[in-house]
Amino acid sequence: MEGQFDLMVIGAGPGGYVAAIKAAKLGLRTAVVENREIGGTCLNRGCIPAKAMIHASSLYREIQNSSEFGIFVSNVTYDYGKILEYKEETTKQLVQGIEQLLKANGVTVLKGTGTLLLASGEEREVRVASEEGEENYKTADVLLASGSKPLKIPIPGMDLPGVVTSDELFQMKEPPKSMVIIGGGVISVEFATVYAALGSQVTILEAMPRIVPNMDKEISQNLKMILKKRGIEIHTSASVQAVEQDGDGYRCRYIEKEKEQEATGDLVLCAVGRRANTEGLFAEGAVPEMERGRVTVDADFQTSIPHVYAIGDLIGGAQLAHAASAQGIAVAEHLAGRERSVNVNIVPGCVYTDPEIASAGMTEEEAKEQGISVETGKFIMSANGKSLITKEERGFIKVVADKETKRLLGAQMMCARATDMIGEFVTAITNQMTVSQLLKGMRAHPTYNEGIGEALEELEDGAIHVVPKKKR
Ligand code: FAD
Ligand code: NAD
Repeated sequence: MEGQFDLMVIGAGPGGYVAAIKAAKLGLRTAVVENREIGGTCLNRGCIPAKAMIHASSLYREIQNSSEFGIFVSNVTYDYGKILEYKEETTKQLVQGIEQLLKANGVTVLKGTGTLLLASGEEREVRVASEEGEENYKTADVLLASGSKPLKIPIPGMDLPGVVTSDELFQMKEPPKSMVIIGGGVISVEFATVYAALGSQVTILEAMPRIVPNMDKEISQNLKMILKKRGIEIHTSASVQAVEQDGDGYRCRYIEKEKEQEATGDLVLCAVGRRANTEGLFAEGAVPEMERGRVTVDADFQTSIPHVYAIGDLIGGAQLAHAASAQGIAVAEHLAGRERSVNVNIVPGCVYTDPEIASAGMTEEEAKEQGISVETGKFIMSANGKSLITKEERGFIKVVADKETKRLLGAQMMCARATDMIGEFVTAITNQMTVSQLLKGMRAHPTYNEGIGEALEELEDGAIHVVPKKKR
């Protein structure tokens, strides 16, 4: 089939740019269309800037607590402008790196809005529109990777100037003195951690009975306790009805336990999830099947339109950067006739609070719901040497294994460096390893990683640094 490109990718976020680079590496003539900055939400308005803010604010809190380690520092202050500069510099460096990688791999970058056109026969057509005009391109296959945008709930007051989403929060020149966050999910708890550390009074209003409701129950409960200790006010089962102006600030009216309540703040952050970004993506007659606003795909990420694929936040499932990238690699390999190199089904979920939270595979509850007989091994990090050294002993590692086969099914962790350590479990679950197989490798001392060994040992003969139940 003739065409200008083998693959045209619409959207250069972690889904699109990774797919484009991989496709080019596998010999496909590839173009990527982007109407904002290369790197998408993740690099410009998501993961990277959020983690930079988390790093800076955690450092500020750590310095304030340094006397625990015999270090005395006086007059500790921060300059929010400089924190923003550091955040922007980090983002810029990464974006430039991706731009260079696209170029070095021979990917054509087309600046503008990409629209899938109604095409006849096998060939696909994409229109790219920018200030310079419009141009149509022919391609064998199209990959839709247009990502997502913040969602605002349809209640009165959401268009008030002080009601923002994460996009606008990143642009604020000063931290708010007080803020109310609607939603107690991942964005909420991460930003609550940042702004509470910087001195803001934070209130979280979550509609579900617990914060981070997608995580293990024990993690939700522990996190709530930790955040409350840091002065964050948390209301669960709180359904927000309206936001109103209150002098220079804002009042959120919500119902908790059938009673009308109010929470006030200088700023309201709406963090109730994200919706797929399909604005300008489809020409008339070229709309693939969708479910609840997200494009539906088959196991190869093909949409209902042949030769049109979709990945990342645009489709159903976890809205995470690494999931989008893994799906992008899978599509590139499929188009190049290669065997899939990555398991797209075991998706680690991480929350960058302090302590960090990470999970992969099934929780004990999920396994039980599926009728799988499981056993769990748990290690409390207060018995881990490295955690005691750094005074990060709060937390635990929980491992879920199939009772009969001893295969690892899942892990949930809340401890220092949990987001780095979860990789070990992802590898083990993906490769269907058993508890004893994952225990075989020696773990260095002193490391947080030793906690994983101990949690696994609890499923064998008992962990060395845990008092046996019968002798307690
Ligand atoms: P996106 O990153 O949204 O990229 C899509 C790109 O397509 C955008 O650049 C957009 O401008 C472009 N585009 C859209 N339509 C068109 C069009 N028609 N033509 C041309 N271009 C178009 N995930 C994690 O895994 N870890 C984290 O720590 C994390 N932290 C986050 C923190 C925040 C505050 C937020 C908001 C999100 C966070 N996420 C995190 C989620 C992560 O950012 C997304 O899951 C990820 O960016 C999705 O990648 P994507 O490629 O599907 O889409
Ligand atoms: P989320 O789905 O994690 O949380 C939204 C929360 O808002 C839920 O707990 C939900 O119950 C609650 N909610 C919904 N409607 C509400 C209402 N009317 N009143 C009160 N609460 C309400 O979504 P998010 O925190 O906005 O994050 C968006 C996406 O970005 C997520 O899918 C997440 O995966 C991704 N993200 C990931 C990370 C990370 O990996 N560390 C960090 C930030 C964001």
